[in-house]
Amino acid sequence: MLQDNFGRRFHYLRLSITEACNFKCQYCLPDGYHGPSDDTFLTLPEIDTLVQAFAGLGTSKIRITGGEPSLRRDFTDVIALCKNTNGINKVATTTHGGRLARDAQKWRDAGLDQVNVSIDSLDPRQFADIAGQNKLTQVLDGVSAAIDTGMTVKVNSVYLKHFAGKQLQQFKDWLKDTPITLRFIELMETGDHPEFFAQQHLSGGPLKQQLLNEGWMPVLRSKDAGPAQEFHHPDYAGRIGLIMPYSKDFCASCNRLRVAANGKLHLCLFSEHGIDIRPYLQQGDVQALMAHLQQLLTQKHATHYLQDGNTGATSHLAMLGG
Ligand code: SAM
Repeated sequence: MLQDNFGRRFHYLRLSITEACNFKCQYCLPDGYHGPSDDTFLTLPEIDTLVQAFAGLGTSKIRITGGEPSLRRDFTDVIALCKNTNGINKVATTTHGGRLARDAQKWRDAGLDQVNVSIDSLDPRQFADIAGQNKLTQVLDGVSAAIDTGMTVKVNSVYLKHFAGKQLQQFKDWLKDTPITLRFIELMETGDHPEFFAQQHLSGGPLKQQLLNEGWMPVLRSKDAGPAQEFHHPDYAGRIGLIMPYSKDFCASCNRLRVAANGKLHLCLFSEHGIDIRPYLQQGDVQALMAHLQQLLTQKHATHYLQDGNTGATSHLAMLGG
């Protein structure tokens, strides 16, 4: 079992398999991705060792993320590998959704249980403005295709000050008949974008109060739940979740660890540095890696220091997958 000095247990691994992305989200990679090519990132055998070690230590849920994970040619193989590992009972991914309409069924057949699609606006022009790609229709077709496969579908929307009012109403209208969970994520400060953060960050606190006033009710958290506080309402097919990393006690329920596409373990999204575990992955030594991971967990801090403007080593979230 992976447990830290504060009694938190870690059932949930967020695994980035590439830093590359072909969208240009204003808060992430506004100038596009210009880093190394995919062949420097974790290989399938390395991922196999990693997943076996984490599963051996009690990890039951894996989220495959990036960059854009679907850009990897072996993405379907990564899904199947995770799903076929003993102990892993839920495989999820986070994607921009550009390839979902075409591939949802293939990914589902490989074992994908849940997909989170990033959609920051339901207004096509605004979507293109934020994401740097005029692909809202394609992404929404992908969401429908994913729902049709029977997967759990969630939508991530970064809660930006500039768009909040309109964004909220359009999304709520959509949720009336759409059986997804929409999660508003508070914009997080990253090393590359302090000005954007200063202009656009909005606390989710008032939104939570508004939802409660409108009759939305909190949903109980499961053991492998992500960081969202979720709400349901009898008049809506969909749910709303709020991810508020700046809220008090956000880190107390932390149950996840992250491995970047370069094979570095990040004990927190905003830790000062990643810890290189790639040599263990290259050697394929599952037992040694398990022992090492248990030791490393003692270094995990109680909380991030985002409130103090300390973003650690995270320049943008394509490095780690959010
Ligand atoms: N390419 C995939 C996608 O578009 O969802 C996965 C990677 S992306 C980095 C993962 C999630 O992080 C997305 O939902 C994105 O909106 C969110 N994200 C990126 N930068 C963020 C920031 N500074 N604050 C809050 N969320 C952010």
